[in-house]
Amino acid sequence: MDILYLVVPCYNEEEVLSHTSSILKKKVNQLMEDGLISPSSKILFVDDGSKDLTWDIISSLHKEDEIFSGVKLSKNKGHQNALLAGLMTARDNADIAISLDADLQDDVDAIDGFISEYRNGCDIVYGVRSRRDTDTFFKRTTARGFYRFMRAMGVDIVDDHADYRLMSKRALDGLADFSEVNLFLRGIVPLIGYKHGFVEYERGERFAGESKYPLKKMLGFAIDGITSFSIKPIRLVTTLGVLIFATSMAMLLYFFIIKLLGRTVQGWATLMGSIWMIGGIQLLCLGIVGEYIGKIYKEVKRRPKFIIEDILIK
Ligand code: UDP
Ligand code: MG
Repeated sequence: MDILYLVVPCYNEEEVLSHTSSILKKKVNQLMEDGLISPSSKILFVDDGSKDLTWDIISSLHKEDEIFSGVKLSKNKGHQNALLAGLMTARDNADIAISLDADLQDDVDAIDGFISEYRNGCDIVYGVRSRRDTDTFFKRTTARGFYRFMRAMGVDIVDDHADYRLMSKRALDGLADFSEVNLFLRGIVPLIGYKHGFVEYERGERFAGESKYPLKKMLGFAIDGITSFSIKPIRLVTTLGVLIFATSMAMLLYFFIIKLLGRTVQGWATLMGSIWMIGGIQLLCLGIVGEYIGKIYKEVKRRPKFIIEDILIK
């Protein structure tokens, strides 16, 4: 039977852990009783360098019951890195991993749906929010805008999906092949491939404590997401350069004509012409340099060029 690991990143979550742990334990026990997962399944808390009693709570939970396990990071590395640490630990010990937030905003009852999609042969199951009305208006609109912008920038990203998802062992193996430092899991996971499914759930409100994602972290996250996946901004500079250069040519012709007609002041045509032309050439050159930087940027990521799903060799 499949061993399930619930991976829960925690940063200063002392206020929520006791409640969260009992809810998750109930869920996992029920799945075990239903014979859906192995009795050696675990709830894995990842302490992302918390400054409060988070790790003490995790240790005592582990002492009470072996179903709870923990990983402690040496310092605060951010949600995405904490998640990856947990997923990579799960990869070594489990057949399936499901990641969810410590504040239980992700409805645990969606896990049944995840498992049944997994049993239908999905390697990755995305939890997708059916509604966003528990979010503030600000968070809702910025998030919508972000997803739309990411799509426009050519990043394959699942709408209204945070990091609540199931991944099979081989999907985790695939994830391990991505060696980039700027982690944006929502962008990477769709690149892994394999069959995937979706489960809708209603996202609740954080039941205690406050968001560990202040606006500053959210903005950083968005900028990371865009610049880690797309060189479209660089292309934009190149295109702009070409456009301005072309315009400068047309302008030059225009200036020349008015000059011939004698309708200009001395020096005006040359001055205007050079401003436009030099501006265009500069942007174009910036874009060309940018193209090379874009290539270097893709190379240094050393992303896997492919992930093999199946091999038929005798
Ligand atoms: N988190 C983390 N490291 C951080 C910030 C957040 O591990 O540096 C965890 C946090 O404990 C929670 C999850 O990431 O389990 C999501 O954070 P939060 O609920 O505060 O974000 P929000 O739901 O407000 O977007
Ligand atoms: Mg939350």
